[in-house]
Amino acid sequence: MSHHPPAIFIADSRGLDFLNSVATPVDTPIDWIADGDGLMDWLAQANYVPANVLDEIKARAKPADLDRVARQARELREWCRGLVRKHMGKPLKPAATLRELDPLNSLLARDEGFNEIRVSRDESGDRLELHTTRRWRSAESLLLPIAENLVQFICEENFSDVKACEGASCTLMFADHTRRRARRWCSMAICGNRAKQAAHRERLKNQH
Ligand SMILES: [Zn+2]
Repeated sequence: MSHHPPAIFIADSRGLDFLNSVATPVDTPIDWIADGDGLMDWLAQANYVPANVLDEIKARAKPADLDRVARQARELREWCRGLVRKHMGKPLKPAATLRELDPLNSLLARDEGFNEIRVSRDESGDRLELHTTRRWRSAESLLLPIAENLVQFICEENFSDVKACEGASCTLMFADHTRRRARRWCSMAICGNRAKQAAHRERLKNQH
């Protein structure tokens, strides 16, 4: 079990959720992927990697290997946080941005994905389905679903809607999919209430 509180999934974007795996929900910064165990926990909570795959990799890999992959994941995250903070709030320029995406392209090139036929079940019963999966040869293959989610976010999200929470010391980012694009906070529970209380205190002060 992790010694951290549950990870934060407020971004309304799976890729951005990964970038929010370091945050300051109260006073102290928490890095949910500070080591191999943390990374495995985060990947399970985010549903990035099936639980049986995580168990297999954990049984096979040395703790030091998992710690090394966690370090690579943190480097990928910090690089991508910089990229998103640079471009958020306006539409991406595809050609110019592509030149910055080498780290992601070189990860994708290592992927050993393939398709297989599986039985899937829904309300109308069982049916056969083409399913994309990958060979999980080493602990490093854990970086691939991370890269995939980041790439999906970069390719499909309108960067005009990507925002940083307005909370004073908050580092969380989100995609604003509200109808009027009026979202300002990571969540009401964290920063929204804090801002409301601060405004309330300010009003009281001004009355006296
Ligand atoms: Zn916030």
